[in-house]
Order: sequence, then C-alpha cells, then structure tokens
Amino acid sequence: MSINAVKGMNDILPAESGIWQELEQTAREVFQRYGFKEIRVPVVEKTELFCRSIGETTDIVEKEMYTFQDKGGHSLTLRPEGTAPVMRAFAQHKLHASDPINKLYYFGPMFRHERPQKGRYRQFHQIGAEVIGVDDPKIDAQVLAMLVHYFQEVGIDDVALQVNSLGCPECRPEYRKQLVDFIEERLEPLCEDCRRRYKTNPLRVLDCKVPACKEAMDGAPSILDHLCAGCDTHFATVRSHLQVLELDYTVNPRMVRGLDYYTKTTFELLTDRLGAQSAVAAGGRYDGLLKQIGGPDLTGIGFAMGVERLVLLKGDADARQQSPALFIAGLGDEGAGEAFRIMSLLQRRGFFVEMDYQGRSLKAQFRRADKLGAQRVLILGENELAQGVAPLRDMSDGNQQDIPLEDVVERLAAILGESP
Ligand code: ATP
Ligand code: MG
Repeated sequence: MSINAVKGMNDILPAESGIWQELEQTAREVFQRYGFKEIRVPVVEKTELFCRSIGETTDIVEKEMYTFQDKGGHSLTLRPEGTAPVMRAFAQHKLHASDPINKLYYFGPMFRHERPQKGRYRQFHQIGAEVIGVDDPKIDAQVLAMLVHYFQEVGIDDVALQVNSLGCPECRPEYRKQLVDFIEERLEPLCEDCRRRYKTNPLRVLDCKVPACKEAMDGAPSILDHLCAGCDTHFATVRSHLQVLELDYTVNPRMVRGLDYYTKTTFELLTDRLGAQSAVAAGGRYDGLLKQIGGPDLTGIGFAMGVERLVLLKGDADARQQSPALFIAGLGDEGAGEAFRIMSLLQRRGFFVEMDYQGRSLKAQFRRADKLGAQRVLILGENELAQGVAPLRDMSDGNQQDIPLEDVVERLAAILGESP
C-alpha cells in the first residue's frame, strides 16, 4: 500500500515552487527596503507559550493546536502562528539590548488542525513581519504601507484593506462588559459556540460567520465608541498617516482578530476570490504581549500573510519556471561525453544548461529541449566532433550558427552571456 501525505498537509511540487520562490524573494526585497531583517525560529515551542499569548479561549488554542508530549514528558506544540515564537526569541536573546527598535520578518510553515478546504490547510505557510519598540502611529502606517506595497509588487491588486482599533487594557474591559450585556439580551438565536463563549470571549461573537449570529449582532455597540483618549488619538493619527500615504482603506469596527494579544490598530487584507477564506493577510498591534511572556515592556505591531492564499490569487504558476539557456544534444557515446563535459563547465560559469541522459535520437533530444523551453541547442554528433565545428540553433527563430569546438566553453559563455 502506498503512503500519502497527512490530510491537509501539502507537497509543493516543482511546477509550483517557482511561484513560491518569487513570492518569498519579493518579500525579502520589499521588506529590506523598510529596514526589516530575517529571524528564523523553531517549528516547535512549549505549549505554554501559545496558551499564554494567543489566549486560552481562542479557536486556535481551544481546538486547532497540534499538541503532543515528547519523550521527556514535556507538552510541545507545532507553532500555529509566528508572532509568539518571534517574541519568545526576542525576549530570550534580549534583542532590545543591542537595538531599541527591531524590525523582523519570518517565513515558514504553521500548523492548525482545521477542516481542510481551498485556502485552508493543516500545514500552511506564512510570511510575517514584526516591529518591536515603536509606539508612534507612524510605524502602524509604515507596516501597512509595506504590506500594500508588497501586494503591488507581486501583482495582486484586487485586495481591500480594512482597519480597526481594539482598544487597550484600559478601555476594552468596559466595552467588553457592554458587549456581554448586549449579547445576553439576544442569546436565543446564537450558535452553540457563541453561547458557550460569549462571556469569556465576547468579541469573537462579533466575528462569527453563522448568519443567525451576524443578524443578532446587528446594532451591537462599537468598540470605536468606547476607545480611551489614548487609543482614540492613536487610531485617528494612524488613519491620517494612511491618508498622507494615499492608501485606500475602510474602517470596519466589527473586525476582531482570532488572537487575544491584539491591542489598538488591527487590520486585514481581504479578497472576494477565495470564498470563505477571504483574509489574505492580517495583523495588528500587540502592545502587552512581550511583557506577558516574560520579556521587556515594549510594544509591537506586525502581520502575517498566508502564502497558499497568495499562490491561489496569483494563479498560472507554471509560467514562472526557469528554462535552460542551452541544451546540448550529444549523439553517441563520444558526443554525450563531450556534451556532459561542456555542460558541467558552463554550469560552473553560472549558466542553466541541460542535456539528455538516455542516448536518444536527435529528434527526441530536440523534443526534450523544446519541452524544457531551452533557448538554444548545440548539436554534438560524430561528424561535428570530427570536423571541430558544431551548429548552435536559436530555438526562438530557428537560426543556426557554426561554433568552432576549439575553446568551445569560452565561445558559448560569451554567446549565452549576451542574451537577455
Ligand atoms: P481565517 O479567518 O481565514 O481563519 P485567521 O484569522 O485564523 O484566518 P491569522 O491567524 O490572522 O488567520 O493568520 C494570518 C493569515 O494566515 C490569514 O490571513 C491567512 O491568509 C493565513 N491562514 C490562517 N490560517 C490558515 C490555514 N489554516 N490555511 C491557510 N492559510 C491560513
Ligand atoms: Mg482561523
């Protein structure tokens, strides 16, 4: 019996990996312009880290984590998100000691035990960024500008930015109380989840996708009417910066995030092309998080994008594969041997070169070169080797030129180096 991958965990096959590389490379380039540096953290953390930071009553901690005991009896969890591990690393290595402002980004797999469907998997990948140590609303706007800039750069232009403020430990409790009161009066139509958790996590009720819950929550009090002076000013300033940067956005006072650590500014980039999986990127401020996990009392803001959702939005992944600059069609043992030697030397010089390894006919080798999209084909048969000259065909127009085999590597390198 053959063994398949675990449900909800995908292979990224060669036909697709080109687009993944492009998405990652563009992220590196764009983020670097905004002063971000990469951080790499483990895929597994102590379970406690996620319980304490994401929150015991969130969907992630309640039902989505891959938690297991290792052989030493420690409870470990495959990371469901990147912010908590990055903050754990930040605190552990005291990154603030060498620089009061840290801008970090990360790539990597995340794990959540959800029902797999298009755009929702059990192992998925995020590209994320975090800024630690800046309270100024300018950084909120910068982070959003960088995110929007990234989407422009990768050519996804039909996403919409929504922003909200979730207040802080000073103003949110009062809002929460009012929200709980509001919900209490209309418990009947709510779904089971919402009835169970409205007291422990009333904000999630606002975000529930069940139509009856949505309807019942019409007219619920808005967090934006309950912000304290500090949060109100912060949010207004973020918005005015967004205007200065000419970033289009809408304010959605009902947007809550699925993680407890968010404060003040929160945001999502939404698409209507992925059905229920409408969020492509999401994030916000998490001013108390570092301290909560035992680090310094520094504020933070960041986001994470779902790479699988980016790939779905980009489409036509195949077109992005690299093709060889040269295919060497060697005929007979001698031809194949010489093809092999020249190919290796050119590869070392930095060129993408391919050959056939099966001793096939010239026709079959041309078919292979064509399939690979090779730009040129060099033909090396018995005659060519005897005469010391080989034809080089340009596959785009069929034109052929003769290449002396003396110094052939130099000659080919010069020709390949000239092409775009
Ligand atoms: P959703 O509302 O779709 O469940 P979320 O609020 O749980 O998203 P976040 O925790 O904010 O998502 O993660 C940020 C991004 O990571 C999401 O916007 C999405 O693009 C991606 N993402 C989250 N969960 C998954 C998943 N199970 N499969 C694929 N991508 C995911
Ligand atoms: Mg989710």
